[in-house]
Amino acid sequence: MNITLAPTGLGHDAQTLYHYLTTYLINDDVAIDAGSLGFAGSPAEQTRVRHVFLSHSHIDHVASLPIFLENVFDQGAAPVTVYGSAEVLDSLQRDVFNDRLWPDFIGMSRKGESLLRLHPLVAGQAVSCGGLSITPVPVHHSVPTFGFIVEDAAAAVVMPGDTGPTEEIWHRANRLANLKAIFLEATFPDEQARLADIAGHLTPKLFAGEVRKVNRPARFIAVHIKARFQAQVIAELQALALTGFETVRPGSVYRF
Ligand SMILES: [Zn+2]
Ligand SMILES: [Zn+2]
Repeated sequence: MNITLAPTGLGHDAQTLYHYLTTYLINDDVAIDAGSLGFAGSPAEQTRVRHVFLSHSHIDHVASLPIFLENVFDQGAAPVTVYGSAEVLDSLQRDVFNDRLWPDFIGMSRKGESLLRLHPLVAGQAVSCGGLSITPVPVHHSVPTFGFIVEDAAAAVVMPGDTGPTEEIWHRANRLANLKAIFLEATFPDEQARLADIAGHLTPKLFAGEVRKVNRPARFIAVHIKARFQAQVIAELQALALTGFETVRPGSVYRF
């Protein structure tokens, strides 16, 4: 499978791009999170995306969903499927598609306009789409959040999403014979450990603790680094000299 973190933020090369928003594109037709999905690429490129999985309701993960759905809407064509927990789908209805922030695309779709189709996710129950199996696994963040395990015939990739220290997704990762990579967050620098604890995020020290829970070789790709502290967080991560560690390059294609 091919995975790309959609680039956001101002930077003149891949090393200095910031992770303001989160969207992973998988094989052109599946997206994990919609932070930047609708803000990047042409309408034709966006139209290839048919499945959007939302990890949680925070705006850096859903910000561009209304714009994306608007960009790709094609009357008469099958709608995009948006997958999320009951809590996420409820937030979309009440907080986004509420006829104030944006038109009620959910209600309009019920009345015949094919703007989107909602698919509730249940913890631990895999969904098949686009040749992939995607399993939502609860993680530890400040709102209900799913990490995702993405598998095809050749590879398994783990995307824990926004999380503090967590357990279940690592138990599952340790059973994946084809585990290739883990896109793991490192939001705050070590000096902000208290804030990380309150917000349900990782620091470099906590990142290392999560890496130690994985007993298979894998690439550990750091993501979701706060832009203001990016250089500091990357320096602290590099100082840990973790086996398999690298920092994500937004816009690059990762092939597994
Ligand atoms: Zn979050
Ligand atoms: Zn986030």
